[in-house]
Formats: sequence, C-alpha cells, structure tokens
Amino acid sequence: MTDLESFRAEVRGFLEESAPESIRGWVNQDGYWGGKNPELPHPDAKRWCDIMAERGWTCPTWPKEYGGGGLDKVQAKVLDQELGRLKLPPPLTGFGLSMIGPTLLQFGTEEQKQEHIPKIIRGEIRWCQGYSEPNAGSDLASLQAQAVIDGDEITLNGQKIWTSYGDKSDWMFVLTRTDNNVKKQQGITFLLIDMEQPGVEVRPIKLISGASPFCETFFDNAKASTGNIINGLNGGWTVAKALLGHERNMIGNVFGGGGPRGERRGPPRNPLAELGREYLGEQDGRIADQVLRDRISQVSVDHQAFLLTMQRNNDNLKAGHRPGPESSIFKIYGTELNQRREELMLSIRGPQSVGWEGPGFEEAETTQTKAWLRSRGNTIEGGTSEVQLNIIAKRVLELPE
Ligand SMILES: Cc1cc2nc3c(=O)[nH]c(=O)nc-3n(C[C@H](O)[C@H](O)[C@H](O)COP(=O)(O)OP(=O)(O)OC[C@H]3O[C@@H](n4cnc5c(N)ncnc54)[C@H](O)[C@@H]3O)c2cc1C
Repeated sequence: MTDLESFRAEVRGFLEESAPESIRGWVNQDGYWGGKNPELPHPDAKRWCDIMAERGWTCPTWPKEYGGGGLDKVQAKVLDQELGRLKLPPPLTGFGLSMIGPTLLQFGTEEQKQEHIPKIIRGEIRWCQGYSEPNAGSDLASLQAQAVIDGDEITLNGQKIWTSYGDKSDWMFVLTRTDNNVKKQQGITFLLIDMEQPGVEVRPIKLISGASPFCETFFDNAKASTGNIINGLNGGWTVAKALLGHERNMIGNVFGGGGPRGERRGPPRNPLAELGREYLGEQDGRIADQVLRDRISQVSVDHQAFLLTMQRNNDNLKAGHRPGPESSIFKIYGTELNQRREELMLSIRGPQSVGWEGPGFEEAETTQTKAWLRSRGNTIEGGTSEVQLNIIAKRVLELPE
C-alpha cells in the first residue's frame, strides 16, 4: 500500500466511524459559521465541526502548529473526495476561514497567529469585515474611521457600512485611518477588534429580499490593543489588498460554484435541466421550450467550465500559492454567471417566480425569488464589477492607465 492509499484508508475509516449519520447528505446554502453563540442550521452542525476541528480538518492545509491539518494538496484532495463519498458537508465556513485566517498566516506575527488561528480552526470566533464606509467603497483608500494610539491602547471612532453579519460576529478585521498627512494609502492601519464592548454599536440593514445580512457599525471610543495591529502601524493597505484577493476567490467559489454547498458533493446532476423539465415539460425527450433549452445548455456549459477553472485555482491555493489579481477574474465571472443562472431560473418558473409568500407558491419558488434578489448584490460585494475590470486591465493585462 502506498502512503497515499494508507492515508485514504485512514481518512475513510475515521469518517465512517466519526461523522454523525444525521449530517450525511445534509444540503445547506450557508453552512455552519461557528462563533461564541453559534447559529445551528443543523442540530449536529457544531458537533460535526468539533469532530473535524480536533484533527485540524476544518482547515486541512493550514500548519499543524496552529491546529491545522498540515495536509499537502494531494492529501487535501483525498480528504475532500472521502467527504464527498459519504455526502458530508464542509464542517465550517466563514470569514475566519476564507479571509482573515489566510491573511494572518501571511502577515501575522508569531504571537498573533498563536492567538487567533487556533480559534478560527475550531470555529470559536465569528469574524466580520470592516472595510466600507459611507464615503469609501470603490475608493476604499479614502476611509476615515480614525484610530488614535496611546501607549498600548488604540481608540477608534467612526463608521463602517455594509458589514456583513456584523450583528452575529465576535471580532472584526477593520481598516482604520492612522495618518491624515500622507498619501491616503500610506496612512491606513489594519486592526483586529473585539466587537463585544460598549464602544461598538451594530445596526442591521434590511434588504429588498427581506433579510438583514449586513449592518452599519459605529465606533464611539471603541478600544483595541496595539498587539492586534497587523503588519505594523500604517502598513494596512498591503494587508487589505491581499485579503481582498482571498475574498474575491471565495466569492467566485461560493456564487460561481452554484447550488447549495452539499449539492456539489453529490453525484453529477444538472439542476437547471431538472427545473426546465419540471416547469416547461418535455417534447421528444427534450425540454419543450427551445429558447430556454438553449439558454439552459449555455449556462450549464459555462458553469462546468468555470467549476473546472476554480478547481485548478483552488488546487494551486492548497499548494501554497497566494491569490493575485487573477482573483478579480474569478470574482467577476463567477458572480455574473450566478446572476445569469438566477435570471434563467426565474424565466423557467415564469409567473411562479414572482411569489413572495402565501398560497399558490411552493417554498422552493419563494426562496428562488429571494435568491434572485440577493444575487443583485453579487456584482457589488467584494468590489464592483467595474472595479474588477479596472484591476484586470491594470494588473493582469498591464494596459496603460
Ligand atoms: C451583499 C454585500 C455584502 C457586503 N459586505 C461587506 C462587508 O462585509 N464589509 C464591507 O466592508 N463591505 C461590504 N460590502 C460593501 C461593498 O464592498 C461595496 O458596496 C463596494 O465596494 C462598492 O462600494 P459603494 O457601495 O460605496 O459604491 P461606489 O464606490 O459609490 O460605486 C458606485 C458605482 O460607481 C462605480 N464606480 C466607482 N468607482 C469607479 C471607477 N473607478 N471606475 C468605474 N466605475 C466606478 C461602481 O462600479 C458602482 O457602480 C458589501 C456589499 C454588498 C452588496
């Protein structure tokens, strides 16, 4: 038996013995986010996370010394395949895993890594992102939330906006202004701050879809320690950009990957074609409506091609490659593909896709209406499509400004 074969046998044995029966086959769009007061989208979600975290397999390729799995890219793939074999969902999700964790591994001091990475791996802290402000979105470097340092203590005043899950998070990674007298990018400090304190107020914002996925966050003499500055005073812009690379990959994966997370682990199927057959009927063994049939084929092919591209990219990341400006390509393509898919599902369902609640509509139909509305934000969050095009022109294609 080769090393890899015995590793596969070990993984298989462990999962068969330890994974709760109840969670096998569980399909959920959002997954388990952890945190101090975790929401349980499935009764065994936390248990499943704890079981995997014990082995570092919530973050399979992160270093063992911080509690990660220490697996190489090939072993991580084996783990993924074995999880798929038992239809097991990812044990943990969230901005700790996808954004601040990898950023801390790159820029954090040894002390900062020892402090924060194990908690991310165990899903103990839920993180949110404090970048955007009312007057700093695409032009992020214009941010004004002011941090003043006195000894070891930092005092923060100002406002952030569109803070996704700010009301559910324990800690925030936040961009602050620490020097007003230099070029704007050079006066920014990247800070980690505990949200549970009197100086932080979070107000949820209600969206057209009825959900409140993000908040306004106000800092009124909020406190942090200088030990939680990442990459030194005024060194925040480099960290901010690196984190955005991780964010854009994540957005490309989540929205461009398509369908609830667990679904990607199941046997190959085409939910768009299934929906087409259900709502449009069949003629000669094919989806009856020719125009929609063509659109279904096109989106399905584009989706498959994108999945393969993302798989290649994700393998590179697992092997230690850091995301570069190409993450803007994945972000723009993945989110625009998701919008095309949502719009197509709306067309397939026809009048059944305009329901909000009440009789006459299935739950899947009203959920679809809300998902379509939610997808409008895809091309804004993590930087708008126009901003991604600017980055691609400048940093990928190296076109003159
Ligand atoms: C669902 C969702 C979740 C979000 N979550 C978070 C979060 O957790 N944390 C956080 O900090 N932020 C979050 N955001 C905010 C997001 O990052 C900003 O909305 C985004 O960066 C755009 O900024 P803005 O809204 O200020 O728009 P603006 O920057 O005011 O842009 C307005 C329009 O002008 C265009 N534009 C601006 N500058 C240029 C340019 N140079 N060239 C071409 N066109 C340009 C834009 O493309 C856009 O169409 C979230 C947003 C959404 C929709």
